[in-house]
Amino acid sequence: MDYEKQFADAVQKIRHEGRYRVFADLQREAGNFPRALNRQDGDNARPVTVWCSNDYLGMGQNEDVLAAMHSALDTYGAGSGGTRNIAGTTHAHVQLEAELAELHAKEKALLFTSGYVANEATLSVLSRLLPDAVIFSDSLNHASMIAGIRHGGAERYIFRHNDLEHLEELLKQHPRERAKVIAFESVYSMDGDVGSISEICDLADEYGAITYLDEVHAVGLYGEQGGGISERDDVRDRVTIIQGTLAKAFGLMGGYITGSSAMVDAVRSFASGFIFTTSLPPVVAAGALASVRYVRAHNDLRVRHQERAQRLKTSLGARGLPVMPSVTHIVPVLVGDPVRCKQVTDVLLNDHGIYIQPINYPTVPKGTERLRITPSPVHSDRIMDDLVDALSLVWDQLDLQRVA
Ligand code: PLP
Repeated sequence: MDYEKQFADAVQKIRHEGRYRVFADLQREAGNFPRALNRQDGDNARPVTVWCSNDYLGMGQNEDVLAAMHSALDTYGAGSGGTRNIAGTTHAHVQLEAELAELHAKEKALLFTSGYVANEATLSVLSRLLPDAVIFSDSLNHASMIAGIRHGGAERYIFRHNDLEHLEELLKQHPRERAKVIAFESVYSMDGDVGSISEICDLADEYGAITYLDEVHAVGLYGEQGGGISERDDVRDRVTIIQGTLAKAFGLMGGYITGSSAMVDAVRSFASGFIFTTSLPPVVAAGALASVRYVRAHNDLRVRHQERAQRLKTSLGARGLPVMPSVTHIVPVLVGDPVRCKQVTDVLLNDHGIYIQPINYPTVPKGTERLRITPSPVHSDRIMDDLVDALSLVWDQLDLQRVA
């Protein structure tokens, strides 16, 4: 077997489809977000404005967060020194878990090294903890949820995206006594639509299921204190497990679940992806604690964030640029072809110093390739107007379709 050829051929296939991924080599500048330097050309660093970061609130440069991290570095040192069970539970981890449980008004929280791991580890262990369980999964669930559900090995059904009738049809086919888990998201991050949490909880009650809600793109951003859509819609107590990340609105990294003491204790005791890995560095836990506290106390950030997203949608729409329907802070603009999508982002980067990563299959279905724009509270009117002008020019230059 010519192994090197196998690898090269696999990549050549996605190159041919226009889906080959090129990473931007960014030097973020604390205090100057969303400005950054693009180091792709080696020493010739070029300034860019970042329009696709998931540091939704700019908390990655927040002064309280940075101060907490500097101080934790001096207090705790660099790494945690172990798994959570063997020397890797520091006071920063314990405090952060207490804060996250409070954020979601749940009894307990459990930290993981990322949101991906939180989903994979928890959903896979649920199959083990709940004998003969059936899992019902929204068709647009994130790859990490799919991985966890598959890994768990329980019987599983995919319901059409946010389709309550289809979900009910599937639930009905199983006796009430049989364990059931409904897994779904609150904000779907590529389209910016929202899962029907309350209605799904109604179905869960009726058919004796528990609910697993990924709030990765909503924590910090919705609800009076940033507890997500489940806080905003006052349904936190109806959701069995709320999962979130520290890597997006909170600006750091790490993931978590929250729920009852019994559930968290069971996941803590059985989930491989929690047990057999070194815990987050205490510096990260301390920074996340400062971030969650800050974000909970600053609803003004959430108000400004929504205002920025609305302003951008309106400005793009006024120029006939095809903004896809979104009821959240995500601003998707349809291109509909992988090669052209990449061309748009190349021209934006090279001619206008604007960085937006093209979003292609398999992240979104083929034919719906798009720009996914994420304005934050620190994207000013001026740079927003620059973006809209540049996009309008590129649309003409590449002869792309506008909407009426
Ligand atoms: N869940 C959803 C819906 C996501 O979009 C992502 C990441 O983009 C994750 C989970 C994983 O979170 P993390 O980046 O913290 O690993």
